[in-house]
Amino acid sequence: MTGTATAQDQRTIGAPVVSLAMPRMRRERGRLKNVPVDGPKQVLLAAPRGYCAGVDRAVVAVEKALDRFGAPVYVRKQIVHNVHVVQTLEKMGAIFVDEVDEVPEGANVVFSAHGVSPAVVQAAEDRHLHAIDATCPLVTKVHREAVRFAKQDMEILLIGHTGHEEVEGTSGEAPDHITIVNSPADVDTLEVEDPDKLVWLSQTTLSVDETMETVDRLRERFPNLQDPPSDDICYATQNRQGAIKQIAPQADLVIVVGSSNSSNSVRLKEVALEYGAKAAYRVDYASEVQQEWLDGVRTVGVTSGASVPEVLVQELLDDLADAGYSDVRATVTAEEDLVFSLPKELRQDASGKRDARALGGRVR
Ligand code: SF4
Repeated sequence: MTGTATAQDQRTIGAPVVSLAMPRMRRERGRLKNVPVDGPKQVLLAAPRGYCAGVDRAVVAVEKALDRFGAPVYVRKQIVHNVHVVQTLEKMGAIFVDEVDEVPEGANVVFSAHGVSPAVVQAAEDRHLHAIDATCPLVTKVHREAVRFAKQDMEILLIGHTGHEEVEGTSGEAPDHITIVNSPADVDTLEVEDPDKLVWLSQTTLSVDETMETVDRLRERFPNLQDPPSDDICYATQNRQGAIKQIAPQADLVIVVGSSNSSNSVRLKEVALEYGAKAAYRVDYASEVQQEWLDGVRTVGVTSGASVPEVLVQELLDDLADAGYSDVRATVTAEEDLVFSLPKELRQDASGKRDARALGGRVR
């Protein structure tokens, strides 16, 4: 569905189901100039975009932990891969660390949305930390699959990026059974113990197309490769890629709001180029957009990664309006209404009253 977005649409279509208090930046307007181009200017705004249910839950978990236990609350790794979210939570009293041995004994620590290995859980227990697990339930699902297949003595080919926190967490569930496959190019050199006892799983935030290419190559080499019971690439990643695939062929330029370490944001830029965008850039903030990117551009596609608060997209739309791109049309390819319940440690307040976010589900 494509239509002209009203101001209300721009706030709600594809925006987070639960809005959060991510503040706007104090910044200069009118930085981009309205240079005439041949024909009308427009923005095609992807929906869904921005916050997914797992990111929303993780950010709210840190906010609730600060509210309930007071600052500081320690967070292992970036709670979600977004610079603005991390800096905002730091100002509220969160302290981000790389490993739990940097957290004082007995303190509160939140595990990020990307998940942790059992070794990290054990290290937190050894330090008597009060751990709050904000792992996205869709990542936990992949962990459970890994444990189950390892118990069946299967060899697991985990399609994902070496070094990514999610891949480290999943691999840690069954290190002796998991081999990481980074890309289709890895398949040719892969060595397995028993080609008849193989199953593939994947990171949740990959390119759908590239992952299927890897699976096809794997199956060519190992015809008895088993599929996972359901998609591991999550609904949010698939929906955001689906929306940009619709927009890209019409776009002279696509701008993806998202951080450089956000896997799904980086994939959105790649997918945009693959599907016909003449140019594509990823930015953390609207202020990074360069005037020359807009040279001769009539149609700008805009989207954002699953860890990006909507306020950052609105700032980009404001700047594009300054440059003459005030006709904003939403391209809606899916509706999202999923909310995950909070981590169990935060479902009750200090007085024992159940939090409104204690239960998840779908909202309307
Ligand atoms: S991108 Fe997907 S897996 Fe990651 S936090 Fe969001 S819903 Fe969960």
